[in-house]
Amino acid sequence: MVKSNLKILKLGGSAITDKAKPYHVRLNVLRRVVKEIAAAKQHPLIIIHGGGSFGHPLAEKYKLNMGFKGDWQIEGFIKTHQAMIDLNKIIVGMLIKEGVNVASIQPSAFLLTRKGRITFFKEEILERLLKLKIVPVLYGDVVVDKVKGFTILSGDQLAAKIALTFKAERVILACDVDGVYTSNPKIDKKARMFRILNLNQLKKLVEARKKEHTVKVSDVTGGMAGKLLEIIKPVKAGVKVYVVNALKSGRIFDALTKNDVYGTLIVKCKKS
Ligand code: ADP
Repeated sequence: MVKSNLKILKLGGSAITDKAKPYHVRLNVLRRVVKEIAAAKQHPLIIIHGGGSFGHPLAEKYKLNMGFKGDWQIEGFIKTHQAMIDLNKIIVGMLIKEGVNVASIQPSAFLLTRKGRITFFKEEILERLLKLKIVPVLYGDVVVDKVKGFTILSGDQLAAKIALTFKAERVILACDVDGVYTSNPKIDKKARMFRILNLNQLKKLVEARKKEHTVKVSDVTGGMAGKLLEIIKPVKAGVKVYVVNALKSGRIFDALTKNDVYGTLIVKCKKS
């Protein structure tokens, strides 16, 4: 497929929910973010959101990432599924109120994974919605897995897969920090932010992060390191990836409409 002008906006659970408080939406952040999306008037656009405090604590409690191990997890599967639908309904409702033509797409109903990785998804559905000038809104979900029974699919994996399939122009990963840093900026006050991060630097960062065990709040999908690993393939394929802070006013609008964006731009190699 030829390179498209598709933009993919991934709204991180760290920004739109308070990961330390179960089922807590940051309504003020979300209202402003939705206004920025509406003002940016971008098309074609796909929005994907994470689970934050709606998905992760339950997924962790019932060990859904391990796949089906026993009937005791079924309650967790159902609750996690429903919690994500609840969060998605809030976000989609706000977008419609702001005049954005969106349609909620339930990932578990249009894709399959194998050992936690997407093996199949109905891309034609997204393609046709985009042609109709509708913005699909998807989310990290608990999905059916051909080998594991079920698994947790991160919004980051979904964003990367769609970006690669449609050769998107850019992916915007919006989270609760300004960009990618030399180490976790919430812990290390001396951490420095990369304005541009190439894949060599990215791989070194992921290696360093793997050695740390610093994640304090629930996150079953890998945090920043998981995010960075997912986007390697799209970046190699020429997709621009921006990591920006959704908590700061205007950053999402800028990331949707401009090339010079305050945040981290991830590129293939030094000079690209
Ligand atoms: P989201 O849920 O929004 O997708 P995550 O919570 O998974 O995002 O990842 C973002 C978090 O990753 C930030 O809140 C930050 O504390 C943490 N983090 C760890 N290492 C880094 C790093 N090197 N640069 C930036 N953030 C980092």
